[in-house]
Amino acid sequence: MNFHIMTLFPEMITQGLSASIMGRASEKGLISVNAVNIRDFSADQKHHKVDDYTYGGGAGMLMQAQPIYDCYQDIRKKIDESGAASHRVIYVTPQGQVFNQKMAAELAAESDLVFLCGHYEGVDERVLDEIVTDYISIGDYVLTGGELPAMVMIDAIARLVPGVLNNNESASTESHSNYLLEYPQYSRPEEWMGKKVPEILLSGDHKKVDEWRLEQSIERTRLRRPELYEKWLLENPPKPPKKKRKKND
Ligand code: SAH
Repeated sequence: MNFHIMTLFPEMITQGLSASIMGRASEKGLISVNAVNIRDFSADQKHHKVDDYTYGGGAGMLMQAQPIYDCYQDIRKKIDESGAASHRVIYVTPQGQVFNQKMAAELAAESDLVFLCGHYEGVDERVLDEIVTDYISIGDYVLTGGELPAMVMIDAIARLVPGVLNNNESASTESHSNYLLEYPQYSRPEEWMGKKVPEILLSGDHKKVDEWRLEQSIERTRLRRPELYEKWLLENPPKPPKKKRKKND
């Protein structure tokens, strides 16, 4: 899966996504991270300007349309040459739909994703109209730039690409895969600061362990994220108690 990121700070992206699991996924060729500097496409040969004041007044600078459009055309040409059928262009913005695990799973099925990272006050609306297919936010707060949101999304999407996690099961039992949060987990030693690992996890009885984990997941979700618990309940209504058969039935 190929990620193409249009940004004024490509080093933030390449550094942020080169360590640990993401770094290994790139080395193995499971993903590619191609951060492109919008400034390289500025028509202003002298100062490589990419931003200007907003019409109508107001504080701050706005990223101009031309360098972003030309940057996108360059990326698009490469994607087309690679033979990919289609691609989505995501503008990360606090004005978008809020990102979640379901959207991550849907985007993980694409072959190429293009991200546009805004900075300063944002981006000239006309280039957004021209190239963007999806407006996505990472939460209801405002950051200084789109690089962190793009990295957050790429991390969440890439770990769903087959082979990126060593063990595919871990993505299917963990938090937000089915409204439930993950159960508590423990590693060595068996006792730490007087706290013991729950007995059942040492029993070797996989069925009992699974039952315990499910109970813990349900209880944890009910306490910490009641709104998710309600959604889970709708899909998993409690089973009615079995009717006792009368003697003469
Ligand atoms: N003036 C804009 C905010 C600009 S913030 C407004 O009020 O909507 C600068 C850039 O940071 C944005 O262009 C966007 O790319 C990025 N950004 C900031 N907060 C974000 C968030 N919650 N999710 C995704 N991107 C965000």
